[in-house]
Amino acid sequence: MRVSQPASADRRAEVETAVRNRSQYADTLHRVDPDADEPEPACVEAEYRDDAEFTDVPVAAYPHYSLCGNPECFGSEWW
Ligand SMILES: [Zn+2]
Repeated sequence: MRVSQPASADRRAEVETAVRNRSQYADTLHRVDPDADEPEPACVEAEYRDDAEFTDVPVAAYPHYSLCGNPECFGSEWW
């Protein structure tokens, strides 16, 4: 069973750039998908939000955002 956990501050310091949904309701940063041409989350978030637009942002500029708990992004099971 996969359990999403909040990422620690260490993980936040691990990357400089993340992607966020442009939606005003967005509150989560995702790891950048290295294979995508456009800024996209590495996790499945982009797949079930077809209408979402993502943009890459510096992690340090969004300290109030939480980090995505998916293993592909910042989840602890990624290790
Ligand atoms: Zn994610």
